[in-house]
Amino acid sequence: MTYDQNNIFAKILKGEMSCHKVYEDETALVMMDIFPQSRGHTLIIPKASSRNLLDADPATLSAVMPLVQRVARAAMVATEADGVRVMQFNEAPAGQTVFHLHFHVIPIFEGVPLGTHGGGRADDAELAALAKAMAARL
Ligand code: 5GP
Repeated sequence: MTYDQNNIFAKILKGEMSCHKVYEDETALVMMDIFPQSRGHTLIIPKASSRNLLDADPATLSAVMPLVQRVARAAMVATEADGVRVMQFNEAPAGQTVFHLHFHVIPIFEGVPLGTHGGGRADDAELAALAKAMAARL
C-alpha cells in the first residue's frame, strides 16, 4: 500500500484546503471533523506522511499520543461530555476513508447515539465555535 500525496488531509496540511483548526505545532494539526459522529468530534493528524498506523514511524506515534490525550481531555471539558472515544482505522475494510494517519476523538453523551461514520456535514458556524472552545482548553 502506498501513500497518496494528494489525499484530503495532505492537502489540508499543505494549506491547499481549509479546515476548522483547533491547534497546530511542528508535529501535528488538530481540526474539527466536518462530518462529526458527535458534537465535538475532533481529528489529530500527524504531519509526517504515513497511510495509517501500519506504516507510521514509531517516533511519530510517540510524539502524537500525548497530544491525543490533551485533545481528549479538552473535548471532555469543552463539550461537557460524559465520556470520550478514541478511534483509529487502518485500511478500507476496517473503516478508513482518508489515507493519511489520523486519530479520532469523539465525545460521548449519555443517551445520545453516535452518528454514522462520515455522515452528515456539520454547520460551519457551529464547527468554528467548537474549534475555538477546544483551543481554549488545550
Ligand atoms: P477515517 O474513515 O479515514 O478514519 O476518517 C476520516 C474522517 O475524516 C471521517 O470522520 C470524515 O468525516 C472526515 N473527513 C472527510 N473529509 C473531510 C474534510 O474535508 N475535512 C475534515 N475536517 N474532515 C473530513
